[in-house]
Amino acid sequence: MRYVSTRGDAPAVSFADAMIAGLAPDGGLYVPETVPQISHEEFTAWANLSYAELASEVMSRFAPDMARSTIDVACAAAYSADVFGSVEVAPLTPLADDTWLLHLSNGPTLAFKDMAMQLLGRLFDAELAHRGETLLVVGATSGDTGSSAEHAMIGRENIRVVMLSPWGRVSDFQAAQMYSIDAPNIVNLAINGVFDEAQDLVKAVNADAAFKARYSIGAVNSINWARVAAQIIYYIWGYLRLAPEVDREVQISVPTGNFGNIYAGIVARRLGLPIRFILATNENDVLDEFFRTGVYRVRPTNQVAETSSPSMDIAKASNFERLVYDIHDGDGAAVGALWEQLAQSGRFDLSSHRGFRHLRDWIVSGASSHANRIETIRRVVAADGVVIDPHTADGVHVGRQQRAAGPLICLETAQPAKFGATIVEALGQLPPRPAAFVGLEERPRQVTVIDADVASVRAAIEDLAARVVDRSGGLP
Ligand SMILES: *Cc1c(COP(=O)(O)O)cnc(C)c1O
Repeated sequence: MRYVSTRGDAPAVSFADAMIAGLAPDGGLYVPETVPQISHEEFTAWANLSYAELASEVMSRFAPDMARSTIDVACAAAYSADVFGSVEVAPLTPLADDTWLLHLSNGPTLAFKDMAMQLLGRLFDAELAHRGETLLVVGATSGDTGSSAEHAMIGRENIRVVMLSPWGRVSDFQAAQMYSIDAPNIVNLAINGVFDEAQDLVKAVNADAAFKARYSIGAVNSINWARVAAQIIYYIWGYLRLAPEVDREVQISVPTGNFGNIYAGIVARRLGLPIRFILATNENDVLDEFFRTGVYRVRPTNQVAETSSPSMDIAKASNFERLVYDIHDGDGAAVGALWEQLAQSGRFDLSSHRGFRHLRDWIVSGASSHANRIETIRRVVAADGVVIDPHTADGVHVGRQQRAAGPLICLETAQPAKFGATIVEALGQLPPRPAAFVGLEERPRQVTVIDADVASVRAAIEDLAARVVDRSGGLP
C-alpha cells in the first residue's frame, strides 16, 4: 500500500516514509491510495482477538512495508495492562438508554491521544533504528498532545523531544504531567507567551532547512497518518464488543477538535465496518457549521473561545483536509484549489457538491455549550454513578440529542481528573484520581522558562543534541 498527498503533487511513499515525514512535501496530508476492504466474516473473526492482536491485524494492513514482527512487538508492548491499566485496554461500559462509553483514556496521560502515541513512539523508534537514524522532535502544545508525546518517547534511544508550552497557561495538572518527567531525551521549554507564539517558534525552527537537517528535526503532530491509522483500531474494537447482537449500523459520537479522531472512524467505515457518526463540537463550532451548511469557514485565532473542553478549542481542523479529499474522489488539484481559496477568503462552500450530500446520510453534527457540559456531567452521575470529563460530556450531550434508534457508543476522550475545576463546578467535589497520579503536582519539575524568541529555542536544541551525544560518547 502506498500513500499519496491530498494536494496531489508529491510522490507516493510507504507507510514508514509517511510516518517519518508527517506532512507531505507539497503541503498536503498523506492518505492511502486505496483502502483495503474487510468482509463482515473477517471482522467477526476478529472478535476473539485481544486489543494488541487486533491492533497488529489492522496496522499490518496499513503498513505492509514494515516487518510483521516489528508491528507485533510494538503492538504487544503498547497495548498492555502495564500501559493502559488492563488487557482490555479500551473497555466498553454501559450507561442508561442503550448508550455505551468506550474508554480511551486509561493510558499514561489520561487522554485518548495515548491510544495512538504509545504505538507511534515504538514504531518510530523501531523504524529509526532500522534506518540507523535519529530524530529530534520539536513540538508545541496547549496541554494534552505534548504530554502524550513526551510520555510515549521517554527513554526511546533514537528520539529526542523538545516541547514548547505557554508558561502559566496550561492547567496545573497538565503542567505537572509534562514538567515532572525526568528523562535525558526530553526537554520542556515554557515560553513567556501564548500557544500560538509557541507554534510560530516551531514553524520558525522548521523553516531553517540547514538547521533542520543538521539536527534531524521532525514532528509527531496530529496530521501524522500513523496516528490516524492507530486510531482506526478502537472503532473496530468498540464495534466488536457490541456485535454480534447488533444487526444495524452502530452510531458513534465523537468529541471533535482537529478531526483526527473522527477521521480514523471514517476510514474504519471505508474498510467496511457498519458504523455511522455523530460529530460533537463545543462553542468552537467550525465543523458543526460545515456539516449543517456545507460551508467551511475557519476562524481567526483571536476568535477562538476558551472553553471548559479546551482540547477542542480550534480555529481550523487540520485533518479535515483528508475528508475533503475523499469528497472529491482523490482529486488533489481540486483540494489544492480549495485550500488556496481558504487562504484568500477564509472559507469555501461544498453545499451543492454531490459528495457532501452523500456524507450527510451517515454523519450528523451538533455543538455543545458550557451549560450543556455541566448538566450532562450531573445527569450521567445521577443516572449511572459515572463521572465523565467535559470533552466526553460534549459527545454524550450531542450524541443523545442527535441519535436515531439503536445503540449509541460515546467515545471517552479524557478522564475527569484532568479537569478538576469543571467537575467541582458540576458536582461540588473533585473527581476521583487514579492512584498513580496522587501527589502529581507536588513532584519536582524540570522546565526551562524562556522568552518567545527563536534564538532561545535553537540554543536549547543545540544543548540537548550535545548532551545526548556526550552521554553515549562517554560510555567506556
Ligand atoms: C485532542 C482531544 C480531542 C479532539 O480530538 P481531535 O482528534 O483533535 O478531533 C477531544 N478530547 C480530548 C480530551 C482531546 O485531548
